[in-house]
Amino acid sequence: MQNRPNRVYLDHNATTPHSDRLKLKWNELLELSGNPSSIHQDSRAPKAWIRETRQKIADELNCSPLEIIFNSGASEGNSSILKSVWDLLGSEKPEMLVSSVEHPSVMKTAQFLQSKGAVIHFIPVSKNGEIDFNFIRQHLSRKTSLVSVMYANNETGTVFPIAEISEMAHAAGALMHSDCVQMLGKDDIEFENLNVDYATFSAHKFYALKGTGFAFVRKNSPWVPLINGGGQERARRGGTENITGIAAMGIVLDSLSEVSDRVKRMTSLRDSLEKQILEKISGVTITAVQRKRISNTSSLVIENVDGETLLMSLDLKGFSVSTGAACSSGNPEPSPVLLAMGLTRDEAQSSLRISVGWSTTQEQVDSFVDCLVSVVAKLRELNQIENSGVYEF
Ligand code: PLP
Repeated sequence: MQNRPNRVYLDHNATTPHSDRLKLKWNELLELSGNPSSIHQDSRAPKAWIRETRQKIADELNCSPLEIIFNSGASEGNSSILKSVWDLLGSEKPEMLVSSVEHPSVMKTAQFLQSKGAVIHFIPVSKNGEIDFNFIRQHLSRKTSLVSVMYANNETGTVFPIAEISEMAHAAGALMHSDCVQMLGKDDIEFENLNVDYATFSAHKFYALKGTGFAFVRKNSPWVPLINGGGQERARRGGTENITGIAAMGIVLDSLSEVSDRVKRMTSLRDSLEKQILEKISGVTITAVQRKRISNTSSLVIENVDGETLLMSLDLKGFSVSTGAACSSGNPEPSPVLLAMGLTRDEAQSSLRISVGWSTTQEQVDSFVDCLVSVVAKLRELNQIENSGVYEF
């Protein structure tokens, strides 16, 4: 985010601003112009950054550095994983279980594999964010190659019980994948306890750069490179490494040692935000509030208000938030995630996602609530006038 003092950014699940640590090191990163695959001395610094960042990630996840594959982000990671499993195991095990609230990079890949003959069972998630364990039990079989359930949903913040689902998947002989994009920097957990075979991460969701990320691929798990090339990443992902992006991740990963304090702060800000909104605005429901959620996310349904109009009004007043709606050719559709959870179209269309971040302050939260109170009142008043037919001739 540009440093625009009059704006308040509350959309950290869409992307995060660059960390202060990264900004301080920026000039140093720009000096990393050598190709890490070269033999001469100019390759040394980039090579060292790649090695060190890989090691830092391995320390963070408690895995082997060889289990980390750098890539362009989580869309690439998710597509690569689902396609690899289908390519190598599909003929014997043509079925997959995929949660019905996944990011499009998982959903669209699953639908693509369906068109190739895969049988995909979409696991229902209830309105209060509970994943359907009975459905998983009923549909897991020796024909299942992969179960894919995200760690935390980007729209509602709901955290799914990945360790339990992994155990069920493994007991049935299936592999387990989790899109962990909304985990790093927003929750404080021991990754290894999830016991997954694959996980995906995206640098721009944890205060580093866009267009970079990495996949965790457990040793000996099926893998087919999506991009063939010059043997980079042990021939698992071709293409000259995005050295600036990788080094930037390494720099930001140093901040993760302070994550438990950050998580506490964000939880307290999010709770204060929700408490104030519930006290000051009628007809508000917080989606999946009963479930464990990541620290920073609040998904609201605000009765009798159109989410897009609300978002635009807040934007004009200096606040960046999101609706979760996929806007295609100016035709906003309600969020497929909220619809899959059983919210009505009206509810999904009246939704607003607020996601705080490391640098959000209590003052920003308070001023956002004040603005929301007045904008919602105004939009409801306009709605009432419109519905009363005063404008009709
Ligand atoms: N998965 C989740 C849960 C996300 O929120 C996102 C980004 O919005 C992605 C995957 C895609 O990540 P990337 O932008 O790195 O492709």
